[in-house]
Amino acid sequence: MSSVAIIGTVAFDSIETPFGKKERILGGSATFSGIAASLFSPVSLISIVGRDFPQEHFDFFKSKQINVDGISVTPGKTFHWKGYYKGDMNQAFTVSTELNVLEKFDPLVPKTAQSSAIVFLANIDPALQKKALTQFKSANLVILDTMNFWIEHRLAELKETLRLADILIVNDQEIRQLTGKTNVIQAMAEILNLGPKRVILKKGEHGSMMHNGKQIFICPAVPLTHVTDPTGAGDSFAGGFAGYLAQYSSLEDEEIFKKAMLAGTLISSVTVQNFSIDALKTLTPFEFKQKFLEFRKFFTPPETL
Ligand code: AMP
Repeated sequence: MSSVAIIGTVAFDSIETPFGKKERILGGSATFSGIAASLFSPVSLISIVGRDFPQEHFDFFKSKQINVDGISVTPGKTFHWKGYYKGDMNQAFTVSTELNVLEKFDPLVPKTAQSSAIVFLANIDPALQKKALTQFKSANLVILDTMNFWIEHRLAELKETLRLADILIVNDQEIRQLTGKTNVIQAMAEILNLGPKRVILKKGEHGSMMHNGKQIFICPAVPLTHVTDPTGAGDSFAGGFAGYLAQYSSLEDEEIFKKAMLAGTLISSVTVQNFSIDALKTLTPFEFKQKFLEFRKFFTPPETL
């Protein structure tokens, strides 16, 4: 068992979906991914918040055994993302991104997190992702996430960070924007020329795909009859994936990566069933296993045709 360190945002989100409107609820890429990863392994978060960030959220992280030594609290306001979803909710529309304290974030990886074996560079400024990454002593797997905001505003820095990553996790719009290729299979192959050895493509309600340079693995999504708020689905997927991998001392076996994708898929299916972390926060390892047994029934392929 090794541990996962995550650098990303700890945020307030203001969100509107066809199922409700919420102001300043707990969100952020590090928040969702950290809670998801904590289901399987020890987690450290590296982020920044303002003085307006309530103690109760810190208490919650600690209740999940999440190391918050790397979350600095500084004068100013916490990062605030405002967005909405409509129709099939497959796309987040950003209303505003108030970087606030994130603008002066100089990530410092605390001693207690420096020996993490898996580093997940969750969605944040790619220059900060790189700055944090250089402080780890023995990272043997680096997983990278990003989004359209950074592809638009920090492409050069993102390409530098990409060179240092082992696995890139993105969605179909992001991979098209990043590579300029409309065919996502070609786009995945292109990513493998830019640094990562493996790329995972999230396709929302249509599941996900992984390309390891030799093979493509297709992972279905959990067929849900109701989604309340998709915010954090991608982060929960990636955090669950990273946390699952951290349980193994060797990652030689390809099957482990497939299982990790299934783990990420199951966790994100929980996240989207309520706003913020409201559904995710009570998920236990036992419930997770039950969900896996249910999920298996949907896609066990026939032996022959
Ligand atoms: P996702 O898993 O892709 O739905 O990520 C949702 C989370 O990303 C929200 O909780 C936001 O706080 C956070 N977020 C939104 N915009 C950004 C950004 N530009 N950089 C980092 N995190 C962001």
